[in-house]
Formats: sequence, C-alpha cells, structure tokens
Amino acid sequence: MVTSTTVDRLAVVRIARFTTGDDPRFGVVEGGEGEEVLAVVAGDPLYTPIRFVGERVPVDQVRLLAPVIPRSKVLGVARNYAAHASEMGGEVAAEPEIFLKPNTSVIGPGDPIVVPRVSAEVHYEGELAAVIGRICRDVPPARVGEVVLGYTCANDVTARDLQRSDGQWWRAKGFDSFCPLGPYLVTGLDIADLRLRTRLDGTTVQDSRTSLMVHDVAAVVSFVSSVMTLLPGDVVLTGTPDGVGPMVAGQRVEVEIEGIGTLANPVLRRG
Ligand code: MG
Repeated sequence: MVTSTTVDRLAVVRIARFTTGDDPRFGVVEGGEGEEVLAVVAGDPLYTPIRFVGERVPVDQVRLLAPVIPRSKVLGVARNYAAHASEMGGEVAAEPEIFLKPNTSVIGPGDPIVVPRVSAEVHYEGELAAVIGRICRDVPPARVGEVVLGYTCANDVTARDLQRSDGQWWRAKGFDSFCPLGPYLVTGLDIADLRLRTRLDGTTVQDSRTSLMVHDVAAVVSFVSSVMTLLPGDVVLTGTPDGVGPMVAGQRVEVEIEGIGTLANPVLRRG
C-alpha cells in the first residue's frame, strides 16, 4: 500500500540517502544489522512529506550517500568532552566554543578522506551530529527537539598541524572530504547516553558516551541559533571525546554510534 507520511520525529526511523547509479533517493531502513533493506520513499525528508513507493532494495546493493548535504553550513563544537579538552591541553569553556566547516567538506560512507599535501598530521574525531530540520533562530534549549530532525555519525577530520599553526581553523577543518557523515539519519533517537566508538583499522581508539558532553545538544543548538539562523540540512557536530590521533593513507576509519550504525571511510593521500 502506498502511504504518505511526514517523518515523525518521535518515532525511531533510520533514513538512508542512496544511489543505484542514478539520482540520489531516500529509503527507510528495515531489518537488523547485516540484513538491512531500504523501503524506497519519494520526497526529501528534510523538506517534504515522504511517500513509500512500494520498492525495496537490499542495502548491500546500493551505494550509501551522506544522509544530508547541507545547503548552508556545518557547525562544530571544540573541546566538548572534558577528557578531550584535557588531552588537547586546554580547559573546558563556559560557553560552547564554535567553529564552521564548509558544506563542501561533506562526504558519505565509503568515500575517501583525502589527506592534503600541506598537512603531515590529519586526525580523526568521531562525533555525534545533529541535523536541523526546520528554519529557526533563538531556539530555547527546551525547544531544540522541535528543530532537530535527527542524528547521524560524523568524523570531524582535522589537520592538527594546521590547526596549531593557523589562527583560524578554516583550513584545518575545511578541506574537501573532512566531514564524513552517515550511514543513516535517525529520528526519534534518545541521544542522552549513547556509546560512541572510533576504530582505526579495526582497533578501537575512541570509546566514550554522549552523556559526557560538557554542553549537551540542546545547549549547543540553542547557543548557535542565538547567533545565526539555522536552516534545514544544517549540521551541528557535537564534539569529540578523548583518544584523537593521526590516520594515514591506506588506513580505514570507522565511527560507530549506538542506535545509528557505523560510518566507515578509507584514507588516501592526494597524489
Ligand atoms: Mg571535533
């Protein structure tokens, strides 16, 4: 049966953006890990009601894409886990410490993270990412749930040497491919205390919980919305826990968040 529905923010729904060689489409993920099937929908969950079209495709027969390509911006929070602030040799700030990444840095699952020639120290940073679903400004913390459509995994890739040497972080955080997102956008997820792990070639290098954020998602989104209008598709990276470190060409990095899935990307060096 073909039904039309808006995405219910209160229900846990995993949404994939994918291609089978033609234009990107969306699908609702059904089935457990290793046997996921996409129930294809018409429409764009960010902007329109979605409608099941009656087609199902096994996830291993598609190429997953970043669940969202921000039309506007990606915002990030620095030092939002105390143990990470400490390993960076800094204190936790009273207000969230925000930076911008360009939307051109976004890539999807399986896409290569490309190490630029000008950096000798590119780090992974596994993070929970909030995807904004409504145009909004001056959102009080208590109402942030109304403007966040869902969550996905992110890797806030950072050229650590350039971050140290440059005054601004536009370059250290902003190279093409420095913002992998995926594998799915998940609505209705209780993100208060999710396990977050990063693996490098299968070895766990970050293992923490979202409950250890200094400024929670509501505080961060509220704060950024007090400065700039947030648009549907904007992404807010909520900070990385301790354990950051370098990755080099030939390695494979994975960010796994409980309830969302695993975002995996190979690392290449620009030739
Ligand atoms: Mg970060």
